Amino acid sequence: MPDQQWILSRRPEGRLSADIFTLRTQPACDEPLAPGEVEVSLRLFLCAPTMRNWMDPPGNNLYPSVPIGDAMWAPAGGRIIASADPDRPVGADITCLGRWQSRMRLPGSETELLPPHLSLLDGMGRFGINPLTAWFGIHRVGSLKAGETLLVSGAAGSVGSVAAQLGRSIGARVVGIAGGPEKCRWLTEVAGCDAAIDYRSEDLPQALANACPDGVDVFFDNVGGDTLDAAVDAMNRMGRIALCGQISGYDGNAMRGPSNMMRLIYGGITMRGFLVGDFAAEWEMAREDLRAKYDSGAIAYRDDVREGFAQLPEHFGDLFEGRNRGTLLVMTDAAAREARA
Ligand code: NAP
Repeated sequence: MPDQQWILSRRPEGRLSADIFTLRTQPACDEPLAPGEVEVSLRLFLCAPTMRNWMDPPGNNLYPSVPIGDAMWAPAGGRIIASADPDRPVGADITCLGRWQSRMRLPGSETELLPPHLSLLDGMGRFGINPLTAWFGIHRVGSLKAGETLLVSGAAGSVGSVAAQLGRSIGARVVGIAGGPEKCRWLTEVAGCDAAIDYRSEDLPQALANACPDGVDVFFDNVGGDTLDAAVDAMNRMGRIALCGQISGYDGNAMRGPSNMMRLIYGGITMRGFLVGDFAAEWEMAREDLRAKYDSGAIAYRDDVREGFAQLPEHFGDLFEGRNRGTLLVMTDAAAREARA
């Protein structure tokens, strides 16, 4: 089977367009594997908004930049088809920092072996990095407590929807911000938010004052920019801002930070960035907690699973148009055929 790859052929300027990628087909590598290496048939790709940052030129040494001419990097999952790693047998499913390509060789130690009871879809979806991000942002970074007010931006998305519902399960009052009436209805009617704000049609500072009359104790921010600016003005003393993402600035938009920094100082407010990987040692514990909450119905999880390796760039672009409904995953055609069988 030849190897198909989506190559980053030039850097995006402003809004993302699919034509910055080129589909390349090349013969599969037939060299023997190096000791410890595995070869994986990649079958499922997570569309993670931060991949848009990785397309930018190098310069910010705290996050990566995909070299021009490389297959695009992406969180991915697949099946081991050849192995020189005694701990990772052929046939096992793994997740990894993959590439937009159909097969990939990498050290086995750079893959996470999925336990046999977990499907690839669940391992990258319900128990994948996005719900885990929500869990650590709420519990470890926001330190949310019962009776507090939680505000979540990007609340109808993959990370945000789990963050909001974890907040409800703790006993907080939860207000979600999302784009459009349908997402806002989902937040109040399905996710159990106490209020939802449609940032596309409402004046955010006024809507925050109405929805959070007692102020905000924890702000879980996926969006940044004007949303963060407005939220800072609504924070209570000793409030916590969990900086999870800044999606409003990823796609070539000019970004500004909060203007009212004195409010943070006088309020003793903490603003802390975090990465889900910072908490890897606790992932299994968090997954158990998530499992219990899915099983009890405390969290309604939703994913948006698409098909087609050939459409990967278009599917990815939907994140920046608000067209995904929950975790956006793309299955290869072969994996989709197998799932339907
Ligand atoms: P997602 O929320 O499922 O999808 C992206 C959503 O963002 C879109 O549906 C859209 O929803 C909203 N959006 C897009 N452009 C926007 C803009 N210019 N202004 C405001 N909202 C916009 O994506 P996700 O995977 O859950 O990621 C959410 C955030 O978490 C991202 O910032 C991501 O980088 C971050 N993240 C961080 C970590 C970490 O370790 N820190 C891990 C995973 C993800 P609306 O229709 O509501 O606008």
